[in-house]
Amino acid sequence: MNIAAAYDIIVVGSGIAGLSAAVSAAELGSSVAVIERASEGEHGGNTRYTEAYLRMKSVDMVADDFEEHFAENSGGYIDPAFLTESIRPYEEWSPLTRTQSFFDPEMIGTFAESAGPTLRWLQEAGIKFDFLPTAFITTTTTRLLPVGGGLAMVEALTAKAKALGVAFHFETAAQSLQTNDAGSVIGLFARRQGQTVLFKGSAVILACGGFEGNAEMLAQYIGPRSINLRPVARGGYYNKGEGIRMALAIGAAPNGEFGSYHAEPIDPRVDVAKPAVFTFPYGILVNKEGRRFTDEAPGTVDAHYENVTRRIFEQRDGIAYLILDAKIDNVPNWRKSLRSTKPAITAETLPDLAAKIDVDKGVLAQTVAAYNTACVAGKFDPLKIDNLATQGLEPKKSNWARPIDVPSYRCYPIISANVFTFGGLKTDRDARVVNNDGEPIAGLYAAGETAGIYYRTYTGATSVLRGAVFGRRAAQHAAGR
Ligand SMILES: Cc1cc2nc3c(=O)[nH]c(=O)nc-3n(C[C@H](O)[C@H](O)[C@H](O)COP(=O)(O)OP(=O)(O)OC[C@H]3O[C@@H](n4cnc5c(N)ncnc54)[C@H](O)[C@@H]3O)c2cc1C
Repeated sequence: MNIAAAYDIIVVGSGIAGLSAAVSAAELGSSVAVIERASEGEHGGNTRYTEAYLRMKSVDMVADDFEEHFAENSGGYIDPAFLTESIRPYEEWSPLTRTQSFFDPEMIGTFAESAGPTLRWLQEAGIKFDFLPTAFITTTTTRLLPVGGGLAMVEALTAKAKALGVAFHFETAAQSLQTNDAGSVIGLFARRQGQTVLFKGSAVILACGGFEGNAEMLAQYIGPRSINLRPVARGGYYNKGEGIRMALAIGAAPNGEFGSYHAEPIDPRVDVAKPAVFTFPYGILVNKEGRRFTDEAPGTVDAHYENVTRRIFEQRDGIAYLILDAKIDNVPNWRKSLRSTKPAITAETLPDLAAKIDVDKGVLAQTVAAYNTACVAGKFDPLKIDNLATQGLEPKKSNWARPIDVPSYRCYPIISANVFTFGGLKTDRDARVVNNDGEPIAGLYAAGETAGIYYRTYTGATSVLRGAVFGRRAAQHAAGR
């Protein structure tokens, strides 16, 4: 075994969480090593590929619904006794409350109040923010974007980290933690070129993503149907869950919904990052049997795409087909909702379309006829909730329901992509990893996807933000501020 030089702080992963931690720690005078599985130029995990929407209404303020959405999706049916206790100061919480699997009010509040200052700090690294166009035609919340997306963030922070003297160890994969007799973390074992290397340090910050790149963990936690899931972009394949596993192995408490993940609708034929299809509110979705199975348009697409995609995932082979007719061209700018680079499957008749997608033509014809009959006259307004709903149809389509009757007919296949997994480690407001007895594990921190915070419906446009916020907070605590 090789022993690398000792550092004050060892950061695992170089996405937004790891780079925010590394730069912050180096700014505070710590010696820092970044351990990264990928090669230089391929590093940055999911962050490298994201457009990085940020749920903000300005650089300084989170969106109006930020805390409310988190609170509504902060766990399962949380025992009210834990909730009551969790609104008291953290110091007064019982060990049992500190280990509960939920995104507690203290964490939500810390996240919200740290978001603005963290974006201001990112600006100092040269990252610019603006309200750029998004893929959503209808929206309920505000989204700020970094100019150049996640790639610009990875490049700017990597350069800044290097300028501050951070040592990058690429093509090196973290495996397990080294602890002393008191249970404190004092180092990290990693694999590099077939050798085990020990990195010594007084703190380890785990920022190495979730387990979206690990088929075994996906099957274990999300279930056998996860064979139909794939990471939404190449970066996710590097995230194999070791950070979560190595911390659980030394007694860390879990947090986040282990059986779930952030779902996005993508065209499975395409190999570019995030070939999303957010166009389904203007057509119908049918499964392999040719039948509708969900309300395609319960509300604005930004708020509902995840739940619709979860229904697609539940269908046979985890796939559905979006059926549109030529009237889609009346929807202004509809192509911005489509990130697929493959052309639609088209046909002049529905039976021909059914043949091309291998769906029973009789069933598809019945499905479309029943849907068309249920469409009623009314004003179609594609840019806002128009309540143009079907009548007497099950399942109902609540908005933008127009008959599908003008050739050419068009179809996009859609599967659920796994943007990232929800299950991770329980952390406190300083991103310290909490053990199963409610105590922080000395020397161990987690940020970004490695720390679980999400349950039920993802609070959209907050994953990059949480990586930056809690990566930075971890470093500030580990470096003694
Ligand atoms: C196409 C796409 C679109 C998205 N859109 C948005 C959006 O608009 N807004 C939003 O908030 N979020 C979005 N997300 C999600 C968001 O980008 C990620 O959840 C977030 O960037 C994760 O940051 P992270 O630092 O936790 O992990 P990552 O950025 O994934 O970085 C983890 C790093 O750890 C490395 N690593 C993994 N295992 C090891 C190991 N054992 N040893 C060493 N290194 C390891 C990986 O190689 C990687 O570099 C999107 C994601 C994608 C892919």
